[in-house]
Amino acid sequence: SYRKGGYHAVRVGDAFAGGRYVAQRKLGWGHFSTVWLAYDTHRSRFVALKIQKSAKEFAQAALHEIEILSAIAEGDPSNSKCIARLLNHFKHAGPNGQHLCLVVEFLGDSLLRLIRYNRNKGIGLKRVKDICRSVLVGLDYIHSELGIIHTDLKPENVLLVSTIDPAKDPVRSGFTPILERPEGSLNGGTVININEKKLKLKAMRAAAKISQRRESMGGVIEFERSLEGIDLRCKIVDFGNACWGDRQFATEIQTRQYRAPEVILGAGYSFSVDMWSFACVAFELATGDVLFTPNHGQGFSEDEDHLAQMMELLGKMSRKIAISGTRSKDFFDRYGDLKRIRRLKFWPLDRLLADKYKFPEPDAREFADFLRPLLDFAPEKRPTAAECLKHPWLGNSKVASK
Ligand code: ADP
Ligand code: MG
Repeated sequence: SYRKGGYHAVRVGDAFAGGRYVAQRKLGWGHFSTVWLAYDTHRSRFVALKIQKSAKEFAQAALHEIEILSAIAEGDPSNSKCIARLLNHFKHAGPNGQHLCLVVEFLGDSLLRLIRYNRNKGIGLKRVKDICRSVLVGLDYIHSELGIIHTDLKPENVLLVSTIDPAKDPVRSGFTPILERPEGSLNGGTVININEKKLKLKAMRAAAKISQRRESMGGVIEFERSLEGIDLRCKIVDFGNACWGDRQFATEIQTRQYRAPEVILGAGYSFSVDMWSFACVAFELATGDVLFTPNHGQGFSEDEDHLAQMMELLGKMSRKIAISGTRSKDFFDRYGDLKRIRRLKFWPLDRLLADKYKFPEPDAREFADFLRPLLDFAPEKRPTAAECLKHPWLGNSKVASK
């Protein structure tokens, strides 16, 4: 993908925007972009630099994300609504073309890493509640104040907020900025010494040491700290697929496991698709398992298996809803029964939590009571983010703003 129209190859120490931002290390990547930790030399702080692939369709998507993130930033001057803040954007010319770059506030690890860090055993209900509160504040803001649907809520797209500021506290964060390309660097820097091999080795060791320290910056440290009773907070990222509630382009939205039933059925969608995904994420945090893991099998599709798994957990879908979509006929007969998967093994949510995940009965009941309405097959019956924030399961503690 590092070719014309594709990713821009970045090396540690590369400068962007006329020297303002200096690349430190790669943070992650998606289908459209690579994301780098960069040092902002004007403001003496770390930022995340999202460098989009250069082909026209990717540039278009980046412009769209910039439009959405700008609206989000404009409506939230105090940056307290749990959405990653867009700080700047610019174009960068490279050998593979012009790349749009987004400068976003630097955040910690994703919820996916948090789940894996806990070896997929769940992170404990107190921390699940902390995270749910942040995500709901973010969803309430984009839904009810801005009219934006995220459409791709999942653990990778929610990042922990680091409470250590590496610019102010480089010692504790274990991080000092690199301001130019390291001499003798392996990836492109010029090696000037005759004793090339020796230098290379030295650079390699130094790089390994630095990357080890950096691994612990942000998320995992934050997680350890949360064990000491500090609230976990997080922010929603990746608005590359977001849309305005009244201007939708795509019919197939959301990542498979987090996809709402109305999307599979082709029955139209609204803000409540994010609430469905939110419930799937909350379940995954609490149990360490993905709620729905559909597969195609002998004579049935992934979509049909997905609908079957939903019904096994939530009970049968009413005929009215089952036949309401443009794709309903692919899955349901005229009685509202699945065509190819005839026998369902029902396992309701509260029983699943108690029996399979060994939650104490009251915990299982209360958590299921929180999640169950969000997983209503009727999208208009799902609670809104604002309603969800009032649910007794979350308790009274407010999200600390900022
Ligand atoms: P894409 O649209 O290509 O999926 P994302 O915006 O989801 O790009 O970013 C890809 C990955 O980069 C994320 O999953 C995360 O690991 C990392 N990342 C993105 N934004 C930030 C940020 N602000 N701070 C730290 N890491 C980030
Ligand atoms: Mg992403």
